[in-house]
Amino acid sequence: MVNSDKNNTLRSIPPMEELLNTDWALEYSSSIGREQVKAVISQAIDDVRQKLQKNIHDKVLPEVFVADRAKNLLGQRSTGTLKAVVNATGVVIHTNLGRSPLAKDALQAVKALAGTYSTLEYDPETGGRGGRNSHVESLICQMTGAEAALVVNNNAAALLLALSATAAGREVIVSAGELVEIGDSFRIPDILSFSGAEMVTVGCTNATRIGDYQKAITEKTAAFLKVHPSNYRIEGFTAFTSREELAELASSSGLVFIEDLGSGLLCPLDLPFASNEPTVRDCLEAGSGLVTFSGDKLLGGPQIGVIAGSKQLVDRMRSHQLYRALRVDKMTLTAFEATLRLYLAGRQGQIPVIKMIETSAETLHKKADRLCRLLKQRAGSTAAQELTFSVVEADGVIGGGAFPTDLLPGYAVSIRSASHSAESLATAFRTSKIPVIPAIRDGQVLLHVRTLLDGDEKIIASALTGIIGEEGS
Ligand SMILES: *Cc1c(COP(=O)(O)O)cnc(C)c1O
Repeated sequence: MVNSDKNNTLRSIPPMEELLNTDWALEYSSSIGREQVKAVISQAIDDVRQKLQKNIHDKVLPEVFVADRAKNLLGQRSTGTLKAVVNATGVVIHTNLGRSPLAKDALQAVKALAGTYSTLEYDPETGGRGGRNSHVESLICQMTGAEAALVVNNNAAALLLALSATAAGREVIVSAGELVEIGDSFRIPDILSFSGAEMVTVGCTNATRIGDYQKAITEKTAAFLKVHPSNYRIEGFTAFTSREELAELASSSGLVFIEDLGSGLLCPLDLPFASNEPTVRDCLEAGSGLVTFSGDKLLGGPQIGVIAGSKQLVDRMRSHQLYRALRVDKMTLTAFEATLRLYLAGRQGQIPVIKMIETSAETLHKKADRLCRLLKQRAGSTAAQELTFSVVEADGVIGGGAFPTDLLPGYAVSIRSASHSAESLATAFRTSKIPVIPAIRDGQVLLHVRTLLDGDEKIIASALTGIIGEEGS
């Protein structure tokens, strides 16, 4: 483009007032406010100017160009960026996708409570103050056999509070094989140091024996900390100290035994490889004084951290200053209470993550067949040469740091494109109106059916219609 051309084009970008009075701008103004719309249009004008300056434009009229860019930005602003997605990755507890979707009972509980006043810290019988924690404490105790329990923001907070209340200014002994990093920036040595406790590491990465703990005890020792390895496995020659041995030594030495159980299984899973995984109750019965675990991993509830154990220790945490900063909101509490009630009623099969984990490969095969048929039908003959659909075997995983080396045999719908890479097809799914998050394997897009919720098939089909439509236009 010659310069005078470019200047003409730049000048033909319509003035702000004109753009603000278009139908689409007026409509957005009524929902998100004129000032926001104005700011967005001005950004769109800048973006388009820059493109024109650099000559990256596709012979589109500037007013159309600006309007498209502004509408795109406004669409993003008005829906927000935290939104529902379809998890077709086969990773059941996917931390980036919000871990556990809640059970219907938990959703109803949140809906009933969120928009009203509640008995959060009020006792209607006495007309006086009640305890926020009291709504779930007895339920946790019934499920786990603990004497007392306290809930906080998440498991990282639970461990921080447990260490701060029992060991600040003193020493905590932990095995070298358990100094793990979990997910994004949760590191055992950092949490320990943040709590004000001094970490004393014993043993080796692959072997720590009871004698190692014994030798490390001084008059400054406050506690033993045992950490679930979660996303990490040590294989080959290993030697670890049992919970029972640690509990006995802690008790005879007057120390607190804290266990960070990570995912926190409330009752055994119906899976062959999970039969050795201890439940919270198992740990407490073996003598752990305090067990901490997450609410939104294997438990299948909202983000929460539980500390369960002896009444004397839990009481110390309840009166600790940090507790006030880590306490849980009413929506989370009511969702957690409803989830616990499902366990107590033996209805944990209605908790989405438990159901997904326990679904058999046979059932998943049928589900994948149905999805494959639906997608083929949606794609129709136009896409028949372009896209190939088939049902393939595809293993899922539990995720959330649980059973990192165990696979859940299952099925997925594979989509191959004749003219596009798997990456670009996956991007098209991810950027659909309701994002569909697939996996990619050997040049194909995989839609795992294990992690699909009711209604997700329809959303995937609409996403496909949109993708084919764009292609065709
Ligand atoms: C996941 C995990 C944590 C962190 O739990 P959050 O609830 O995410 O704070 C801590 N310890 C272990 C062993 C874990 O697996």
